[in-house]
Amino acid sequence: MVKVCIPRALLYYQYYPAWKTFFERLGAEVIISPPTNKTILNLGVSRAVADTCLPVKLFFGHVMSMMGKCDYIFAPAVTSLGNKAYNCSKIIGLPDMTRALIPECPAILGPEINLDKGRYHFYRNIYDLGRYFTSNPFKIKKAVEESWRSNLAYQGKMSSEGLTPVEAIDIMCHGRQEPDSGPAPSLSLAIAVIGHPYVIGDDYLSHRLIHLLESMGVKVLVPEMVPEGTLYDAAKRLVGTPHWSFETDIIGAGEYYMEEGVDGVIDLSVFGCGPDSMMVNFVQHRAKELKIPFLHLSVDEHTSDGGLLTRVEAFLDMIKWREKICV
Ligand code: SF4
Repeated sequence: MVKVCIPRALLYYQYYPAWKTFFERLGAEVIISPPTNKTILNLGVSRAVADTCLPVKLFFGHVMSMMGKCDYIFAPAVTSLGNKAYNCSKIIGLPDMTRALIPECPAILGPEINLDKGRYHFYRNIYDLGRYFTSNPFKIKKAVEESWRSNLAYQGKMSSEGLTPVEAIDIMCHGRQEPDSGPAPSLSLAIAVIGHPYVIGDDYLSHRLIHLLESMGVKVLVPEMVPEGTLYDAAKRLVGTPHWSFETDIIGAGEYYMEEGVDGVIDLSVFGCGPDSMMVNFVQHRAKELKIPFLHLSVDEHTSDGGLLTRVEAFLDMIKWREKICV
């Protein structure tokens, strides 16, 4: 059976269930790279130029960790999903950068996904991709339809059940048990954590921030727990029509959760991300206007667990102290 590897990085956190369904319906075996660890990060760092952002370095590390274990690596160039909003240039150039920096890697399946170029362009690229596995166009059409349904189910699961992308993927694709539907534990604070899903969801990159907050009794809210359209409208209220795809997730989620009255917002961004450095200012400024505590955490290869823990503890202490003196 043909083996397709999906690196556990970047858009994996947004589309893995859909991509898995697509390839499996075409008869391929889908494998994913292991969770990030220091070896994988070092592999990526060894190939990328120094000022490449951390998540892209990590993507290269995941590709290298799968060398010799699969026939193809899936690295699409997701340019735009419509509404004239575009992904960052590093995501658009991902297949070309991977081929150039890791010439010895298995063949790359790197279709361009650009819904702004219309349905014909999209379907032609998907059919070209499907032809690696079958010459039957009806089989490809069916795989596309099932993949789309899987994507809707994934998004619905996160927004209706309040799950993070990793939790939803674990339940839908890795057979993890649904969480116990008993009474929810009483949590003292509700904190929105905004940022790219591939940063928040990667335990190594994020230093397990979600687990850390939960262990401190915090109810954690991430962008994927809100329907896409709601986030889009919230981003529009704050900055106008989004032109970057991630504006919806980051600015939209920040604005939405602040309007909902969360106790605080943590922005988790990464070294070397141009879009992050612009987006964070909008949310930070708005938090100041609404008098909502805001913490900006930026991680790089050298960030330590201890440093991050200290800042998070101090932030939560400050919120609790503030709420005590305001009652
Ligand atoms: S949006 Fe930022 S973190 Fe994501 S790939 Fe682009 S530069 Fe890197």
